[in-house]
Amino acid sequence: PAAPYDDQNVFAKILRGEIPSQEVYQDEFAYAFHDVNPQAPVHILVIPRGSYVSWDDFSAQASAEEIAGFVRAVGHVAREQGLVVRGYRMMANIGRNGGQEVAHLHVHLFGGRPLGPMIG
Ligand code: 5GP
Repeated sequence: PAAPYDDQNVFAKILRGEIPSQEVYQDEFAYAFHDVNPQAPVHILVIPRGSYVSWDDFSAQASAEEIAGFVRAVGHVAREQGLVVRGYRMMANIGRNGGQEVAHLHVHLFGGRPLGPMIG
């Protein structure tokens, strides 16, 4: 992998409850919370409970159960938050060129307004 997992990253601290977050959903495999600096009326982050730096190590190393659980949770949150009818965007930044700032896999869910073309 590009870098080993650092358990002092901010999302690891959020998972351990060491930093507060606004919870949206949680289950055995995932935790979802509001982004502290929202880029849309709805901006939620969904993270796996397992220690994965990014989509890269998650997709290569997570168990089928973890992967299915995480994917299910992302879809569940989108439905539960009412994002599906009008549509929404899911995004994962990976590594330096991807603009990833926090080294714990997270999927962004954006919604609540027309989002326009892909940014970047
Ligand atoms: P990235 O660029 O890594 O894909 O996105 C990181 C996201 O995490 C950013 O949208 C940023 O606003 C959000 N973020 C960073 N630190 C915190 C935090 O302590 N709490 C919450 N809720 N979001 C955070």
